[in-house]
Amino acid sequence: MSFSFSVVAEDGAARAGRMTTAHGTVDTPAFMPVGTAGAVKAVTPEELVACGAEIVLANTYHLYLRPGHDTVRELGGLHAFMHWTGPILTDSGGFQAFSMEALRRLDEEGVRFKSHLDGSLHLLTPESSMEIQAALGSDIAMVLDECPPLPSPRESVEQAVERTTRWAERSRQAYAGPGVPFAIVQGGTFEDLRARSAEALVAMDFPGYAIGGVSVGEPPQAIAAVARSTAALLPAGRPRYLMGVGRPEDLVEAVAGGVDLFDCVMPTRNARNGHYFTGTGVVRIRNAKYEKDLRPIEEGCGCPTCAGGYTRAYLRHLDRCNEMLAPMLGTLHNLWYYEKLMADMRAAIERGTFAAFRESFYAARSQPPA
Ligand SMILES: [Zn+2]
Repeated sequence: MSFSFSVVAEDGAARAGRMTTAHGTVDTPAFMPVGTAGAVKAVTPEELVACGAEIVLANTYHLYLRPGHDTVRELGGLHAFMHWTGPILTDSGGFQAFSMEALRRLDEEGVRFKSHLDGSLHLLTPESSMEIQAALGSDIAMVLDECPPLPSPRESVEQAVERTTRWAERSRQAYAGPGVPFAIVQGGTFEDLRARSAEALVAMDFPGYAIGGVSVGEPPQAIAAVARSTAALLPAGRPRYLMGVGRPEDLVEAVAGGVDLFDCVMPTRNARNGHYFTGTGVVRIRNAKYEKDLRPIEEGCGCPTCAGGYTRAYLRHLDRCNEMLAPMLGTLHNLWYYEKLMADMRAAIERGTFAAFRESFYAARSQPPA
């Protein structure tokens, strides 16, 4: 096991840090592009590096079903298989298994689900999730947790917290991979349940902690509040990861609250829908007003698409024709935007100017701060 994390600068609750894994270091706050089936859609690993990504996320559920974790192990592990030499975080597979609403059953042992590919029956347990992630060879493995849907009555959230705690202990005992396991704090929007969950998990002394269950439909203010209050409950010397969130504003607010790691499908998925992120807001390339617009997606953007001279007019045309080049060029821009946002936040924290950064972030978008 080769893993460490240190905080290099603090500015209010926000912090800049450095996370070291066997596959390289990650400057935090960091954004992890999502590589669902061992690929970040529409971009190559070389392009991810060019965009500034230092770590990617891969989905255990998908890789377990296809090609299978034993096959990945046989082929040299996930890093070699997907041609990505940097750090990889894998999720537990639970979130996807749970989302097979009609096809799943949850009990103390784990979650039983039917494959969306062929209908075959599977049982994912805290132990098997750890075994799969160990076989994949990820640098950070997430424990299996129970993430209750929203809205859920307090009683079910409380039960989910208790089960998540028991499963975290089983996961910690079971993990025998090359990386480290991270625990996941649950508790919905109930502050006392978040506190209870954090306290129990921190007592188990995990190398890192995630804030789970906050990307299932809460309003942005609730996400920011939960991220902030939960981050404050976690040990300062361990990385804090807000799972599955979100919009650029969500990232800024969570960083302000002391979160270090993020993942979200938004930059990649939205790019495929012609939805491009910029400092002044979103460019929806399907809008007719871009038909003859010779400007790049964003003036001054250094991404290969904008700096390379591709115009809004051309991107709109590609999107209308369903050309593969549209998601490719759009994804490059969106990932660049996200990675640059993180780099700008790191620099602001290191200079002690995060409050000013946050103010100008909202001013440029003509948007009041969250
Ligand atoms: Zn760009």
